[in-house]
Amino acid sequence: MRDDLERDHQQLLEFLYACPVGLVQFDSAGEILMINPYAMKHLLPMAGTRDPANLFAMLEGCAPELRNLFDDYGKERGTVCDGHRIAVDIGAVRKGKDPKVLACTLVKLGADRAMATFTEITVQVAQERRLKQTETWFGSLISGVNDYAVLSLTPEGIIDGVNAAFARQTGRRIEDVAGEALDAILNTDTASGTLSLSDQLRLAERDGWYLDESWQQRSTGERYWCQRLFAVRPAGERGACGGYFVVLRDVARDESDTSDLRRMLLCDHLTGAANRTHFLQAFEREQRRWRQDRQPLSLILLDVDHFKAVNDTYGHPTGDVVLKQLTQVCSAMLRPADLFARLGGEEFAVLLPNTPLDEAARIADRLRQSVEAMVVTADAGPLRITASFGCVTASDACSSVEGLIGLGDAQLYAAKHAGRNRVYTRAALPAAA
Ligand code: GH3
Ligand code: MG
Ligand code: MG
Repeated sequence: MRDDLERDHQQLLEFLYACPVGLVQFDSAGEILMINPYAMKHLLPMAGTRDPANLFAMLEGCAPELRNLFDDYGKERGTVCDGHRIAVDIGAVRKGKDPKVLACTLVKLGADRAMATFTEITVQVAQERRLKQTETWFGSLISGVNDYAVLSLTPEGIIDGVNAAFARQTGRRIEDVAGEALDAILNTDTASGTLSLSDQLRLAERDGWYLDESWQQRSTGERYWCQRLFAVRPAGERGACGGYFVVLRDVARDESDTSDLRRMLLCDHLTGAANRTHFLQAFEREQRRWRQDRQPLSLILLDVDHFKAVNDTYGHPTGDVVLKQLTQVCSAMLRPADLFARLGGEEFAVLLPNTPLDEAARIADRLRQSVEAMVVTADAGPLRITASFGCVTASDACSSVEGLIGLGDAQLYAAKHAGRNRVYTRAALPAAA
């Protein structure tokens, strides 16, 4: 009997060890009771300096909402969330690379016991995104009234044919472009994060197609918004790449068919602020630019004060209205180049390119005053809130996205501890200090 038990236990351990899904057992405070190697591999790098023995602490940087979801779940047993997506590796969001995404399921097994599973779904998410883009694009091709230009390219990316609409759209004739590389006729603004044309062709080769859109110029010098579909031509002999087709479509900028899709991909569904993934990608780009140009780059983090009490007193729907109104008030005060984002729950961030720390602190204080002055109309009467702010700037001592967010968080929590409704600011100290 005892041997049987031991054998069962041994088999369970072997299963947990080899399981290609992350498994974590934890208590109601998030303290980890058991974690398998797959979960450790994916979660430990997310912990940073936070407590690796606590699941919620480890996830605080990437998915702070999980703690809230778990705490707010009313029942003793049941599924808290199923396949909740977590965009993980801030540092790995490089040009052309898809951010790593984990799907997390949390299940409460009893009063003080719960289980989390983690699966990596990076590839599925990237494919899903591309599929959605293609559906939108093909839909607009079929229903659109504008005609579209088609080019054919050799495997080396050299133009070897165009249709009649190409001349109408671009003002260039086949004689002008045959034998040219695609780069000679299409502009790519790689500085704004667009992939180079050769990278776009490589992705088309990998996935069968690639979609992009940007400003282009006709031979007359006139600019137009151009949607492009890169597709791979049927394979040549022995499976070698047979070249590519490129479909170009001229669309009115504000009727861009992808704008809804973009909104869906880039914005937080509740508030309309930039979502976490979009924010981290933009931050990565700005941080790379900072390394090159050394124009100041600052970050403001803000967290609503005592927001739990707002929910408890006025109800969750009113809490949602507060978050939406706060987003409107703050966004209206910022410049077009600034990015206002919801990082999770009632935590927001503002990315401020070309902004030194003292100016960022002044902006943060103006935001603080506007939030304090904001009146939200709730069923139970008007309600006011405040928020606390942490403000930091990129420097040689600290310029990484993770590092700056960590420093900003530290300032934010210092502002909380000092009594809330205030701005705390710090320049990163030199490494030796
Ligand atoms: P502090 O001043 O220390 O920040 O206190 P707090 O109460 O704001 O902080 P805490 O992190 O304990 O509470 C955050 C709350 O935000 C808990 C959670 O219920 C709530 N929350 C998270 N996301 C949403 C949301 O989308 N809508 C609403 N209404 N509430 C949310
Ligand atoms: Mg918070
Ligand atoms: Mg708060």
